[in-house]
Amino acid sequence: MSRSASHLTISRPGDDAASPAAETGRPIPLMVLGAGADPNSERGVDCPGELPPPSDPDLVHRAERARAALGDRAFVLGHHYQRDEVIRFADVTGDSFKLAREAAARPEAEYVIFCGVHFMAESADILTTADQRVILPDLAAGCSMADMATYNQVEECWETFEDLGLADSIIPVTYMNSSADIKAFTGRHGGTVCTSSNAKRALTWALSKGSKVLFLPDQHLGRNTAVRELGLSLDDCIVWDPYKPYGGADPEALRRATMILWRGHCSVHGRFTKENVAEVRRRIPGVNVIVHPECQHEVVLAADQVGSTEKIISTIEQAPPGSAWAVGTELNLVQRLAEDNPDKTVVFLDKTVCYCSTMNRIDLPHLVWAMESLVAGQVVNQITVDPKTASEAKAALDQMLALP
Ligand code: SF4
Repeated sequence: MSRSASHLTISRPGDDAASPAAETGRPIPLMVLGAGADPNSERGVDCPGELPPPSDPDLVHRAERARAALGDRAFVLGHHYQRDEVIRFADVTGDSFKLAREAAARPEAEYVIFCGVHFMAESADILTTADQRVILPDLAAGCSMADMATYNQVEECWETFEDLGLADSIIPVTYMNSSADIKAFTGRHGGTVCTSSNAKRALTWALSKGSKVLFLPDQHLGRNTAVRELGLSLDDCIVWDPYKPYGGADPEALRRATMILWRGHCSVHGRFTKENVAEVRRRIPGVNVIVHPECQHEVVLAADQVGSTEKIISTIEQAPPGSAWAVGTELNLVQRLAEDNPDKTVVFLDKTVCYCSTMNRIDLPHLVWAMESLVAGQVVNQITVDPKTASEAKAALDQMLALP
């Protein structure tokens, strides 16, 4: 039943062609953020190679020179939550799904430099051609939510469903924010991937195929979509805690539930509270509160609007001048929205600043290091998903693209 999560490989300076790592790829198991360190990679330890110091006054010019030298051979993707210093070098910006599609639409680019986090680079590798190489400038740029559902945990969960005679009635649906292993699991069991934009369609499809959904790994997106958009009740939802027998649920309750929600959450969006909403309404009379569906259910209920990252951006861009917005999503994006919409008031929903720490791992020194290495002919931090995992994960991604 269990297998090691060894689908990732990395090319680093110093790997020579004769070494087993260079021939077969070095297995890189997923690592829970902040738990342990991998001395064979830069995760939790030093970056290999010559990482420029952040104080280098020539850093921006170095980035510009390296980007110009790479030309059309490279395509730089920037997620909306990236720092300003990085996003300025992106050829295209977007959310995880848009960026994966953009990567797939550039088969001529030899290198896809992904300024985002690990699961996004995996999806780009799955969707790009075999000749293209996907680079993550800092391997420590993981996602705490994706790390909350490991392959072995999900396999054990499914075994329990089989023991209870429930597996045949359950369709797995995984959020884009999950590892390639979990997407492959989903594809193998006839499920689909979803994004925050199409979660309603994905759940509607899944519930036409089975009577229950196992929703991975973000309990909040699953609950918010099921209750707000499909009209299910909170009693139709049950949380699966991978650290407890039977997921911490009564087997009879599992039989009754329609939505089985994996106990995962986003460490950024999960921290907003309904008190934040009440406080900003007192502070800014008439403010519109818009939040991401990864927020807790009570926050979503208290907000005026709920939407994906792309929806939040378009809503504020199209809002009338003079309107005020409190935004419950990642701080880099909120700050950029405030700068890009000077005719509106745009504030962060919480008073306490909070960036996505792993998104912020991609900084200008790492981007310069990755691009200069490529200019010098050295491929660093390549993200590779093994063919079997990629094929099964692609089945789930293709199912998402085919959603009615
Ligand atoms: S914002 Fe949340 S879901 Fe997105 S990468 Fe950061 S921890 Fe993961």
